[in-house]
Amino acid sequence: MSHLSLVFYPDERLRVKCEPVAKFDSSLRELAREMIATMHDAEGIGLAGPQIGVLERIFVANVTGNPTDNLIFINPEIMRSEGTISSNEGCLSIPEYRDTLKRAEKIIVRAYSVEGEPFETEADDLLSRCIQHELDHLDGVLFIDRLSRLKQNLFKRWYKKHGPFGEEE
Ligand code: ZN
Repeated sequence: MSHLSLVFYPDERLRVKCEPVAKFDSSLRELAREMIATMHDAEGIGLAGPQIGVLERIFVANVTGNPTDNLIFINPEIMRSEGTISSNEGCLSIPEYRDTLKRAEKIIVRAYSVEGEPFETEADDLLSRCIQHELDHLDGVLFIDRLSRLKQNLFKRWYKKHGPFGEEE
């Protein structure tokens, strides 16, 4: 299985508002398969198109690590959100940096499957957070953008010391 290479902060591709997926064909299915493999290789719980340089509205998720829990969301939209919860978050495109931020606790999301079938799902806990994080990627938003100004400055200082990412590859 070939894996896709990850795009790291501050790559401009992570700042693009992605286009909807228009074609539900075999190359989309192949892309989704490769994204899932890449996510597992990187030990992530989610991976969005821009993180592998594909500027389309697709992300994959798996919050349990069990292959039967692989999820694919295409052209997703959050229909409803409820409550707020604060927890620790990280991102495959910003390796090793974690911080705590607020997200909606519970969401209802609508999306298309890789076959082009619409579906709606309710998520809470880790999956809710993961979907919100990945959906942000499709709009060019990173979790660090949602931190307070103070924490964003702390991140920039941290990055000066620890960046750039992906050098060892
Ligand atoms: Zn991320």
